[in-house]
Amino acid sequence: MALDLAGAESKRLRERALSVIPGAVNSNIRLSAPPVFFGRASGATLWDVDGRDYIDYVLGQGPHFLGHACERVNAAVAEACAQGMLFGASQALEVEAAELVLQALGWAERLRLGLTGTECVQAALRLSRAVTGRRKFVRFDGHYHGWLDNVLISPDERARQASDGQVGEYLNDSFILDWNDADALAELLREHGDSICAVIMEPVMVNTGGIEPRPGYLRRVRELCDQYGVVLIFDEVITGFRVARGGAVERYGVVPDLAIYGKAIGGGWPVAAVAGRADLMDEFGSGRVNHSGTFNGSVMAAAAVVATQRLLAENSPYDRVADYGNALMKGLAAVAADHGVALNVHGLPAAFHVSLGPQMPVPDLRTLNELDLAGYAALTDRFVAQGLWVMRRGIWFVSAAHGDAELDRTLDRFGAALGGASS
Ligand code: PMP
Repeated sequence: MALDLAGAESKRLRERALSVIPGAVNSNIRLSAPPVFFGRASGATLWDVDGRDYIDYVLGQGPHFLGHACERVNAAVAEACAQGMLFGASQALEVEAAELVLQALGWAERLRLGLTGTECVQAALRLSRAVTGRRKFVRFDGHYHGWLDNVLISPDERARQASDGQVGEYLNDSFILDWNDADALAELLREHGDSICAVIMEPVMVNTGGIEPRPGYLRRVRELCDQYGVVLIFDEVITGFRVARGGAVERYGVVPDLAIYGKAIGGGWPVAAVAGRADLMDEFGSGRVNHSGTFNGSVMAAAAVVATQRLLAENSPYDRVADYGNALMKGLAAVAADHGVALNVHGLPAAFHVSLGPQMPVPDLRTLNELDLAGYAALTDRFVAQGLWVMRRGIWFVSAAHGDAELDRTLDRFGAALGGASS
C-alpha cells in the first residue's frame, strides 16, 4: 500500500494548488516528488507545513551546496537589493561576480550571467554554431541539458522527443552517442566532423547515475574536438562549484572551450552563467551573437554570486563535504548490508547515486540499467516517511551544512526505513 506522506496541511495546500497550478507544481520535474509542501529550511534540514523535519539530500535539485538559507549570502543579497535591483544597464556587482568566478575557474577568460542552466546551454550552442558555421552538435545518452526543444530527450529511448508540443525536428540537430566511449565519438567525427559545431556533455554524468568519466576519456574528447575544429562544451550546471571549486575541469584537468554553470554558483539564488575562451565569448560582446535577458546580471544574482564565491574562497568546504559524502556512502551500504539489502552506492561524495543491486563499478549507462533502479525508486517513500528527503532517481546531493549530527540521524532513519521495508 502506498505510504501517505502528506500531513493535513500539505493535503489542504495540494487541494488548493491543484485548482490553480497545473499538476500542483511549477516544474514538471517535481511531478514525481511526494506531495509534501514545505514551509521552512535551514542548513541541511527542511520542515514541511505540518512541522515534520527532513534531512535534505535534494538541496533544491542542487543549488544549496552551502546549505539552506545561508545567512551570509542572504544578507549580502538583501543589502544589495535594498539599493535597487535592476537598472536596465550595467552595475558594479556584475563586474565583481565575473572576476571572482573567473578567478575560481582559472581557465575561462569571459563570463556572461543568465538565470537558468537551460538558457545558458542555448547560448553556448548558438555561439558554437556562430563561430564554426556548422549546425549539428554531439550530445550523450542520459545527459540533461534543459527542457527546450533541441535538447530534451526521453530518458527511455534515445533521440525520442520527450514532450508533446516539442518540435521534434530540432532533435535532428544532434547526434546522440554513448558517453565514456571515445571510439564512438572518433568514428562519428571522422564521418561528420565538418558538419558538427560542438560536443556538449556533463563531464560527470550526474543526471543519470553519478557516473565519472573513464580515465583518459575527457582528454581524448578534447583532442578529437581540436582535431575537427569542434567546440567542447562542459555542462557543469551540477558539477560546477560542487565536485571541486573549479568543478570537473579542476578535478580532471581537462579544459573545455565553453562551460555552463548554475545551481551552486550562487548559494541557492536563481543565477547561471556561460564562461569560456575570450575569442569565442567576445562574439556576444561584438553583437554578432545574441544572448539577452531582462534579468541577466541583476543585483540579486550578482550579489549572490559574489557572496557565495567569497565564502567558498575564504572557508573551503570541499574537504568537509567529501569526508561527509564518503562516510555517508559507506554508512548507507553498511546499514543496508545489516538489513540484508544489496545496495549499490557509487559516484562522487558530493553527488552520488544509490540503487538496489550488487556493489560494483558503474562506468556506463548499460551497467547502470542492470541495477534495480525502479526497486530503489519504490523504496524512497519509506525514506521520506522517516524524514530523509531524497530523489526517486537515486541522486544524493551533500552540502557544506551536513555534519556529524546529520550523518548519525541519516543512518538511523535509513535503517528504520529498511527495517520497515523488510517487515
Ligand atoms: N544542465 C544540467 C547538467 C542540469 O542538471 C540542469 C538542471 N538540472 C540543467 C542543465 C538545466 O538547468 P535549469 O534547470 O537551471 O534550467
